[in-house]
Amino acid sequence: MSKLRLAGTIGESIVDGPGLRFVIFAQGCPHHCAGCQNPQTFDPNGGYEEDSEKILKEIKSNPLLQGVTFSGGEPFMQARGFAELAEKIHDMNLNVMVYTGYLFEDLLATDKRDVRNFLQNIDILVDGPFVKEKKNLLLKFKGSENQRIIDVKSSLEKNKIIVVE
Ligand code: SF4
Repeated sequence: MSKLRLAGTIGESIVDGPGLRFVIFAQGCPHHCAGCQNPQTFDPNGGYEEDSEKILKEIKSNPLLQGVTFSGGEPFMQARGFAELAEKIHDMNLNVMVYTGYLFEDLLATDKRDVRNFLQNIDILVDGPFVKEKKNLLLKFKGSENQRIIDVKSSLEKNKIIVVE
């Protein structure tokens, strides 16, 4: 399996998606949103390289987890590695939630195989950049009002964006 460049991981979180979740922070982000809470993740050469097998072992060791969240940084900068990881996470009967600064429509429009393959391995996608002027602390699982929480499988099936709140 591929290696991933990461900014860090959290073994248990209840604020990065539904239920108890393992969280993986990708290193590298091209969006540079003003007011980003993780500017240390911008540099694609920063962070550290991690073996996907090691991450899977850590996830497997916690039977209480309901899912895994890939956050940023920008996970789609490493679409192939994260797609492989998402596939293995699904094999463990856990769901996969991903944060991206890209819009779902733009990801769908790409002809990059790795990006399309990654999308097909995601259950919930929180899309769009963080917009400081639209920041709202009351929002659940997202930072600004422009972002959407998308049911990816239903959206791909029905060929229209299905937003869940
Ligand atoms: S996409 Fe996310 S990690 Fe990247 S700059 Fe925007 S808020 Fe920060």
